[in-house]
Order: sequence, then structure tokens, then C-alpha cells
Amino acid sequence: MHLNPLYYNEQHLEFAKSIRRFVEKEISPFINEWDESETFPRELYKKAADIGLLGLGFEEQYGGIAGTDAFYTLLASIELAKCASGGLSASLLSHTIGAPPIQHFANEAIKAQVLPQILSGGKISALAITEPGGGSDVASLKTKAVRDGDYFLVSGEKTFITSGMRADYYSVAVRTDPNAKGANGISMLLIDAHSAGISKTKLDKMGWWASDTAHLHFDNVKVPASHLLGPENMGFLVIMNNFNMERFFLAASSYGFALTCYEEALDWAQQRQTFGKRLVDHQVMRHKLVDMATRLTATRALLEDTAYRLGKPELQGSELIAQICMLKNVATQTMQFCADAAVQTLGGMGFMRGTKSERIYREVKVNMIGGGAEEIMKDLISKQLGY
Ligand SMILES: Cc1cc2nc3c(=O)[nH]c(=O)nc-3n(C[C@H](O)[C@H](O)[C@H](O)COP(=O)(O)OP(=O)(O)OC[C@H]3O[C@@H](n4cnc5c(N)ncnc54)[C@H](O)[C@@H]3O)c2cc1C
Repeated sequence: MHLNPLYYNEQHLEFAKSIRRFVEKEISPFINEWDESETFPRELYKKAADIGLLGLGFEEQYGGIAGTDAFYTLLASIELAKCASGGLSASLLSHTIGAPPIQHFANEAIKAQVLPQILSGGKISALAITEPGGGSDVASLKTKAVRDGDYFLVSGEKTFITSGMRADYYSVAVRTDPNAKGANGISMLLIDAHSAGISKTKLDKMGWWASDTAHLHFDNVKVPASHLLGPENMGFLVIMNNFNMERFFLAASSYGFALTCYEEALDWAQQRQTFGKRLVDHQVMRHKLVDMATRLTATRALLEDTAYRLGKPELQGSELIAQICMLKNVATQTMQFCADAAVQTLGGMGFMRGTKSERIYREVKVNMIGGGAEEIMKDLISKQLGY
């Protein structure tokens, strides 16, 4: 599976190599054990920061890496997917959804204090939007923040929060104007996750075991008003602004996991013998691999085209937002198809814990639901295209 050379320079390829080495040395040898124990060492954040993985897409003055375009995200996602653990990537990179609201909307003092801690791997950042009452309908959120002098008092619940148990900072969507309807009256607040009044419960899941996922309860949590991310009551725009890169990252990861399934299945099919010949010598099995390769090629082309467009200011707008939503659906369907075909190709072995395809198969649905479910993507596409 080859990348389109038109899009990549030496720095891209060197960066991809360094992530590959990092995954081979620091993650893959341990990932089965971490997945089974439903966690991974906190030191991995620092190691990831040291090779520039955490700084991607963030400004240099706060510890980010200058000049990293969406192709870096794409390459990092492909390389990380080789460890075959979406849970690991989701938690290790939870700042990619938690910290952009800080970079783009926090005041200067907060940015200067908080971002270097996160991007150096010292502190963990999470995003808390979803509530027990609903995730797709973001505008219906109920967690309230009541102004009390220079503070807000925050009460409510958030659920399914990635890195929720061990994050140090939550970027939280709250309702600041109880009288405003829907998307109006929502704000984003940066909340210290160790504040009094916050309780956390770990959630058990179908997949993403290496990632901690939490239910959060806020009981009159005191938050300085200076921790507003963006103007008061304008938080819905902050949330929507965040979704594009989250969806691109989910799509790139889904492609990476699909590719990992394909490679494991191809390798197996070239070695496994049935009825006196290799699996790959049976036409039906060959076609299964070709179907996987075909979907992968189409998905990669769309990913690269989208990464290119993301880097062009003149191409920003509703058409690109629609394309990102299409890409998320295409890539997650490719992941679903390839995970299914790979497990089938591996036969009973594909059902055994420890194969890459087994774990990825369990992790398909979260990519199709998280960051905006498939149905919601389609609705958004139709709106962006004006019908
Ligand atoms: C492991 C995991 C990690 C997550 N991490 C985070 C996180 O870090 N931060 C965070 O804020 N959230 C997180 N989420 C939440 C995730 O974004 C939501 O689960 C997702 O947005 C869907 O919301 P929901 O689960 O409430 O489903 P619902 O909104 O209840 O929807 C249920 C189903 O109905 C469909 N549906 C809903 N409305 C419509 C409609 N109008 N038309 C057609 N179909 C519709 C949906 O597409 C979905 O298939 C995570 C979820 C999981 C599972």
C-alpha cells in the first residue's frame, strides 16, 4: 500500500520513520499486556512528547512542533495503528481533542501555563462534551455553570470521557445561560480535574481496553471565570471548530487499523495451507484480500485529498466540512470491512486474543460512533451541501 509521493517531503517520511521506531520499541512489545490490564504507563506520554508526537498541530511557543500539516497526523495515525490498539492511541492522544480549545480560545496566561505541561507529556488533557442524556444532540447538554463573582459553579454529568480517570485538565461544555435555547447559551470551560466536587467512575467497554473511559460527576465545582475558552455563551462554535480535526484523526486511524488488518490477513493467507495449497491460492480468499486492498486504496486517496485541502486556506468552508464527514464514514466502513474480512481469513485464530485483527474487530464500532456517529455525519453532510 503506497502513499501518493506527490504529497510527502523528506521531513514527512523521516517523521513517519521515527514514529515507526517508537511504536516498535515502546508500544508493540507491551500492548497485549497493557490492553489486558486496561491501562498503560503514564511515562509513555513523556516518551511520545520527546519524539514530537504530542506537539503535532500545536504552536511552537507552547511546546508544539512548527509546520506540521495534516499529512503528519495521517502518517502518525498509520504508524500508531501498527500496534493495533485504538485505546492506546485514543488516550495517549486525548489532548488532540482536549487541548485545541485551549490553544485557540484560552487567554494568554492559561495557554502559557497549561499547554507546555500537556505537550511535554507532564499533564493529561481530555474533552468532556457528551452527557448521559445524549451525545449526538450536543445542543441539548444540561451541565450548568452558574456565575458566582469571579467564578463559575459547575454541576452536572459527563459520560464516555476518554482519559477521564487520569486527566489533569478537562475542557468541558457547559450551559451558562439557562434561558437560551439549543446551541445558544453554551460555553467551554477549562476545569482542573483535581478540583473539589468532581467524582469519576471508570467504565467497562467492548474495546479500547487500554484507554480509560470515565463517567464524571460535577457537584458545585468552583472554576475561575478566567478559564472560559472563548466568549461566554459562544461555546457551540468552539465545539464545532474542534470536530473537524477530531474526525480527520478518527478517519486516519481507521485507515491505519484497516491496513493493519489487511497486512495481518495477507501474511496469514500466504502461510496457511488448506486442501494442499496456501489460502492465498484459493481464488475466494484472494478476492477477499483484493476487496480489502481496493477499499484501502480508495480511502487513502480520499484521506490524502482531504489532508491537502485542510492545508489550503482558500479551500476551507462547508464543502470541506462535508468532505471530512464523508471521509469519516468511508474510513470507518473500510475499517469495519477489513476487520471482518481479516478475522474471517485468520479463521479460528482470528477469534483468539492476541491477534491484531481480533482487537481491531472489537474496536470498530467506537470509531463509527465516537466524534459524531455515521447517521449524524450524513445529516451534517446534507446541511453543508445545502439540501
Ligand atoms: C469509548 C468512547 C469514548 C468516547 N470519548 C469521548 C470523549 O472523550 N469526550 C466526549 O465528549 N465524548 C466521548 N464519547 C462519546 C461519543 O462522542 C458519543 O457516544 C457519540 O457522539 C454518540 O452519542 P451517544 O452515545 O449519546 O448516542 P445517541 O446520541 O444517543 O445516538 C444513538 C444512535 O442514534 C443515532 N441518532 C441519534 N440522533 C439521530 C438522528 N437525529 N437521526 C438519525 N440517527 C440518530 C446515532 O447516530 C447513534 O447511532 C466517547 C464514546 C465512546 C464509546
